[in-house]
Amino acid sequence: MKTSNEVQLSFPYRDVQIKRGLDPKEEYDLQEELGRGKFGIVYRCTEKTSNLCLAAKYITCPKKEDRRNVEREVDIMRSLQHPRLIQLYDAFENGKVMCVILELIEGGELFERVIDDDFILTEKSCTIFMRQICEGVDFIHKQRILHLDMKPENILCLTKTGNRIKIIDFGLARRFDPDKKLQVLFGTPEFVAPEVVNYDAIGYGTDMWSVGVICYVLLSGLSPFMGATDPQTMANVTIAKYDFDDEAFNEISDTAKDFIRKLLLKDMTKRMSAEDCLNHEWLKRKKKIIARTPSMEVTKDNLKLFVERWNEHPNSPYVFDKSSQVIMPDQDDCPTSPASSLAK
Ligand code: ADP
Repeated sequence: MKTSNEVQLSFPYRDVQIKRGLDPKEEYDLQEELGRGKFGIVYRCTEKTSNLCLAAKYITCPKKEDRRNVEREVDIMRSLQHPRLIQLYDAFENGKVMCVILELIEGGELFERVIDDDFILTEKSCTIFMRQICEGVDFIHKQRILHLDMKPENILCLTKTGNRIKIIDFGLARRFDPDKKLQVLFGTPEFVAPEVVNYDAIGYGTDMWSVGVICYVLLSGLSPFMGATDPQTMANVTIAKYDFDDEAFNEISDTAKDFIRKLLLKDMTKRMSAEDCLNHEWLKRKKKIIARTPSMEVTKDNLKLFVERWNEHPNSPYVFDKSSQVIMPDQDDCPTSPASSLAK
């Protein structure tokens, strides 16, 4: 398996300013739909002048507040120029529709990739993905930004065959001042940290919890806190109750389990930072050639079920109702309005 240390970006630095009152179709040819999220629909597109292939994310913004959310996403992405993070190319506001032009990422979602029959899933390959995720998160955090929606569907593979990944979707990201208390009321139950469920102060550790959950799922195909219902899942999250008892963990190294244990800690301040993760024994680049780790067949079968379940019931951002301790899907199921309103 190839590892990659590349540092180049897909295109040189661009100081993107939102173009107002302009239709993106004047500058870009739109092609097929690539995917849809909670707030936007993403199409393949080509810049007319350069023939560069890119992705256009369209977001309908009926309210001023919705527009402000996209403006915040653009502003945050302007500070996030890094090879592990999706890059912003252009941005438009055209009436009630906003459009961000992004680097095109063609490899599909990471979890879809690892369940492919041609992909040999080993603990070693998991370290290659987790290292890149931590590099991306480390950079985000060093810019004093929280992603706040770290989950498998927001990790894409750059190409269909390589092992490079990128973190996408800064729609819920926030600038963070460690001296000021920040609380949010959104998240995805299976990946959200206890402090979000409890409406306590959040911080860099909030993303690190989700990184820990992603790692657990990648290594086992199982969701550590999933209960029979969403409130049950949330209850499991708040007490940080999980274990490594399943047979999927039989072949997993103690170092990997230690890595997860140091992330899935109830106390946010005790969790490893992204930088700590990169220095953890499990992710440290080893000079000696490591013996091939066994292929994780049980995990792969579990992951197939995980992906199937997510495709059937996409666990999109939820709003947490603090007073009743009830969580509800965020608004309707159509990707029309940005999550904005949920941020407190
Ligand atoms: P939302 O903010 O509405 O949730 P996302 O940014 O998550 O939207 O995008 C929705 C889906 O579109 C993603 O899950 C992915 O499959 C696809 N997608 C998003 N950005 C790109 C891109 N730059 N290149 C290719 N596909 C993309």
